[in-house]
Amino acid sequence: MSSLETLTVHGLGRVAEPYRDIVPPIHMASTFERDPDGSLPGGRIYARDLSPAYDPAEALLCRLEGGAAAALFASGMAAASAVLLALKPGMRIVAPRDMYWSLRNWLVSFTGNWGLALDFYADSDELAALLARPADLVWVETPANPTWEVLDIAQAAGRAHAAGARLVVDSTVSTPVFTQPLALGADIVMHSATKYLNGHSDVVAGALITRAEDDFWSRIRTARQNGGAVPGPFEAWLLARGLRTLFPRVRTAAASALRIAQHFEHHPALVAVLYPGLPSHPGYDIACRQMKGGFGAMLSLRVKGGEGAARRVAGTVKIFRRATSLGSVESLIEHRGPIEGPGTRCPLDLLRISVGIEGTDDLIADLEQALRDASQD
Ligand code: PLP
Repeated sequence: MSSLETLTVHGLGRVAEPYRDIVPPIHMASTFERDPDGSLPGGRIYARDLSPAYDPAEALLCRLEGGAAAALFASGMAAASAVLLALKPGMRIVAPRDMYWSLRNWLVSFTGNWGLALDFYADSDELAALLARPADLVWVETPANPTWEVLDIAQAAGRAHAAGARLVVDSTVSTPVFTQPLALGADIVMHSATKYLNGHSDVVAGALITRAEDDFWSRIRTARQNGGAVPGPFEAWLLARGLRTLFPRVRTAAASALRIAQHFEHHPALVAVLYPGLPSHPGYDIACRQMKGGFGAMLSLRVKGGEGAARRVAGTVKIFRRATSLGSVESLIEHRGPIEGPGTRCPLDLLRISVGIEGTDDLIADLEQALRDASQD
């Protein structure tokens, strides 16, 4: 059997008749013809739920995550929202205190409006304490924005299941290259496919992959079909195209991130370098067990001069692009706290860095010059 790397490069080897295209065609149709007797020879009714445009990326993601089924969404937030829409009023969610900020805020407002209970955990001990009571859904993001805390997925899965809950893992940052949450006991994996899966800052999309095609999954499918948060055919095609280079992109970026983290770990202009691949990071031991072959390509720098110095560094870099988002081939830097806004727990001296696939020495030199400039002001 071919390796996941080979299957990914070949898009699972799917070829389209009649020309035997080695890349998938773009299926633009929004609807599909019936036969005179009313049957659907193509097996599809309407593209909001069953567009063939989604098949290549969904099939590959399903394989990469080792799941039973996958579904694309219009964004990572739409994917997460479909999970929430599959819950019923009165159910209880347990979610991380530190996670992707917009999703955290959305959880707070959604659960309030939808009659769901929501409790936040700071670490695995608090998660265990919260799961002493029954719950319905446990959310995990690992490594988690913006300090890249790592949570033990297998342990969380055991605890979630004992409390009667499903475990959903936002694996956007780790990607299937390094972690397969379903194999560790998760029930659903969520991705902002906008990030590493697509990898080129030109698509907004999301994905869910399920361990089983159970009743919860069919509620998610119904939420997608009726909520309608589906990607366009071209976005789905671009995502399938981006996925072909997933392994080399992500591995190159992660190797570069490790070198950058090591280089800056004791830098005089910094208070801390937060990267799960450094033994000084609190999540290092779990990351070594749970992330195979790399620690991801996200890291954060805490700048000695505080908020002002961090802002100056973000404004002085020349190769890093100063922009929100992550997971693309070009490196991005963001002074994160002010972007998250009021109520943020993100330290104001923190720069969030998404390492791309440029030359590592160029990136190191760029940060060096920016830190030098910022500490002279
Ligand atoms: N999860 C994580 C970890 C993210 O970083 C993001 C976006 O930044 C999302 C979810 C939301 O994804 P999207 O922007 O595709 O809606």
